[in-house]
Amino acid sequence: MRLIALGAAWIDRCGRRIDAIGRRLRRAGLPSLGPAVRPRLAALLLLAGMLIVVASVIRARPDTTGLPPLAAGELELRALDVGQGDALLMRLDGATMLVDAGPDAPTAGAEIVPQLRRLGVDRLDVLVLTHADGDHIGGAPTVMREFAVGIVIHADHDLSHPVMREVMDLARDAGVAVRQIRRGEALAWHPQVDLSVLNPPEPGPDDDNDRSVVLHLAYRMSTILLTGDIESSVERELVESGVLRPADVLKVPHHGSNSSSTADFLDAVEPQIAVVSAGRYNAFDHPRDGTLRRLRARDAAVFRTDLAGSVMIRTDGRVIRVFLERS
Ligand SMILES: [Zn+2]
Repeated sequence: MRLIALGAAWIDRCGRRIDAIGRRLRRAGLPSLGPAVRPRLAALLLLAGMLIVVASVIRARPDTTGLPPLAAGELELRALDVGQGDALLMRLDGATMLVDAGPDAPTAGAEIVPQLRRLGVDRLDVLVLTHADGDHIGGAPTVMREFAVGIVIHADHDLSHPVMREVMDLARDAGVAVRQIRRGEALAWHPQVDLSVLNPPEPGPDDDNDRSVVLHLAYRMSTILLTGDIESSVERELVESGVLRPADVLKVPHHGSNSSSTADFLDAVEPQIAVVSAGRYNAFDHPRDGTLRRLRARDAAVFRTDLAGSVMIRTDGRVIRVFLERS
């Protein structure tokens, strides 16, 4: 009732204001609004005002995970809960990047697309496909059909995988740039972020997992290492070649497989925060106990999508905070 009374008073005040404008128009010799139009115009203005208020409330509403909107200058890495697979969303000041797109179209449709929409993401500046395995690229065609994409990044020599072929067809049809990257290159994403490609070298390894794109991201004083599904031989090569750099946050390689996250690799990365993207009760028993032990022995705090749902890591470039969808 109070809202209706307020609305009526506002329409009345608005009507008087329109009358005043009308008098001025008449004095200036211009045609004015008739008395029948005035309340309608005022009601229209009230409706427009209410829509603006509702829109701003919706925009400011916390996302599905209860987090407030990302602040200016705040970088977020969001490991989406896509079951057994990877889908990592990065956001900073409106710039967006998705590293892998989950295992399949239904998961992309149920988890990735709605969560991105809820976050107000309508474009992916960069879509990185770390390697041509289903649990990383299966949802890519769905994502590409739902969102505008700036560039598709990959490192695969062999683009014969049916999903990769579909991705290439979609990119060609939509005029989306495609770039194959190699160690030593840098990706342009956000002007304040250094994004270096550490793997694969040229020529790349034969194994699919070992060809994974490895990205090192530096934002002010915060660093993140994204590793795809690399295994022990690549970890050793990264350490021995001297290209590996420490990182505050590690996306644990290959969903926490025991054939990755070797002791020397973890000693070189020195992660404080380790994120495992794995499916609940997955058939591979990821993450393996040995991997978790090696991480915890180095005082890394481990967060798992199979237990916590989506894992959100936010940093202003100095302080890093972790939020879980469910705890
Ligand atoms: Zn995988």
